[in-house]
Amino acid sequence: MVRNPQMATPQGWLGALVGFVAADVLTGSTLPTALLLTCANLVGAAIGCFYLSRLAKPHLSLQTTESVLHLILVSLAASVSAGLAGAAAMQYLFGQPFASGFYFWSLGEIVHYAIILPMVLAAPTPQQTRQWWRNFRQTASLPGLYRQSIPLLALVLSSAAALWIGGPGAVMFSVPALLWCALSYNLFGATVVTLIFSSWTTIAISQHYLDLSVTWPLAVADLQSIRIGILLLTLTPLTVAIISAARQQLLQQVQHLASHDQLSGLLNRRAFHDQATQCLQAQQRQSPLLAVLMLDIDRFKSINDTWGHSAGDQVLVNFTQVASECLGERGLFGRVGGEEFSILVPVSSADEAGQIAENIRQRFAHTPLDLGAGRLIEATVSIGVVTTQDAEPLKQLLLRADQALYQAKHQGRNRVQLAVPA
Ligand code: GH3
Ligand code: MG
Ligand code: MG
Repeated sequence: MVRNPQMATPQGWLGALVGFVAADVLTGSTLPTALLLTCANLVGAAIGCFYLSRLAKPHLSLQTTESVLHLILVSLAASVSAGLAGAAAMQYLFGQPFASGFYFWSLGEIVHYAIILPMVLAAPTPQQTRQWWRNFRQTASLPGLYRQSIPLLALVLSSAAALWIGGPGAVMFSVPALLWCALSYNLFGATVVTLIFSSWTTIAISQHYLDLSVTWPLAVADLQSIRIGILLLTLTPLTVAIISAARQQLLQQVQHLASHDQLSGLLNRRAFHDQATQCLQAQQRQSPLLAVLMLDIDRFKSINDTWGHSAGDQVLVNFTQVASECLGERGLFGRVGGEEFSILVPVSSADEAGQIAENIRQRFAHTPLDLGAGRLIEATVSIGVVTTQDAEPLKQLLLRADQALYQAKHQGRNRVQLAVPA
C-alpha cells in the first residue's frame, strides 16, 4: 500500500485483515484470538502507512540522508501504536500485565519494521528492474562477479566465525562485513543483505545456534537487550547504504553538470572531446567508418541583434531539438562553442554522412522558431563533414571538418560541404 497507494482501499485493508487472520489461524490460534491480535497488528500497519503517505517521494524511496530518521520514526510510531493495542488485547485474552505486554509487543514490532520496511521502500519498480537486467547482461563479466561477491563471502565467513566462537561479542563479528556490503552493493541489494542477516541472527539466537553465553531459557531482560541490539545492528549498514547512495547521486549530478551545457543539455566542449577521443580509440579495434560534423548557425549575430539575446537562445535550443531528432539515439552531439556544434556518428559510407548532415540542414531551415503573434525566426546552418576509417587524431578531424565548414560559409551558407580526403 505504501508503494502502490491505489491499493490502500477498504477492500485492500480487508484483504490484509483476512491474510493476517488466515496466517494466525493456520498456525494454531483460535479465530477470536487471531481476530483480536490481528486488529492490534493492523493498528501499527495503519499508523505506519499514514506516516509514510505524508512523506515526500525522495524520503520515501530512501534517497536522502533524512530518510534514515524517518525510517526510525515511522518504525517507532507504528510499533508503539501496535504495542498499545497489542498489550490491551493480551491483557484481555491472557491476563498479561499491560506494561510487560506493551514492552514485549512494541520491541518485537520495531525490529520487524526496521528490518523489512527498508527493503520494501528501496525495491526497484518493474521498469527499473528491466533496465538493471539489461545493463547487467551487457556489462557483467565472470571476474567482475567474483569481485562483487567478496563482501558477501566475508559476511558469510564472519557469521560462521560467530557460530564457531560464540560468546557475548559474537553478534558484532559481522559488522565490518555488513558495512563492506553496504558500501559495495546498491541500496536495494544492501537492504536485502541486511534483512537476511538480521533474520538469520534472530533465528540463530532463538534456536540457540548462536551461543551468546546468556542463561537459557532467555530471561525477558536479555531478550529485550538482544532485540535492541539487533535493531541497532540492522540500522548501522542501512544508514551507511542510504548515505552512500545519496552521496553517489550527488556525485552523478555534479558529473552531469560538469560535462553538459546548461542551455542545450548537450555535451560541452570538453566532454565531447573526451568521449569522441574514446570512440576513435575504440574504432581502431572495431574499425567502422566514423563521421565528424562541424555545424555553425548562419548569421547568428544578426539574429541576436534583431530579436534579442533571449530569442537567440531559443534558436539554439530549437536547433538542438531538430538535430537531436535527426540523429536519434546514435552518435555524440556536443555544443563546442556559442553557436557551434559537433557531431560524431558511425556511418556505413561517406554518402550516408552527407545525408545525415543534409537532413539536419533541411529540417532546421524548415523549422522556424515561433515567438507567437506571427513572429517567426528563420535560421539556417552550415555544416562541414569529414569521414575517417584510419586512426586519425580527433584534432586533425576537427580541423578538416572546420575547413569544410569554412568553405560552406564561403560559398553562401545554408549548405553541407564534404571535406577533402586526408
Ligand atoms: P556566420 O554565419 O559566419 O557563422 O556568422 P555568425 O553571426 O553566426 O558568427 P559570429 O561568430 O560573428 O557570431 C556568433 C554570435 O553568437 C556572437 C555571439 O554573441 C553569439 N552567441 C554566442 N553564444 C551565445 C549564446 O549562448 N546565446 C546567444 N543568444 N548568442 C550567443
Ligand atoms: Mg555562425
Ligand atoms: Mg561561429
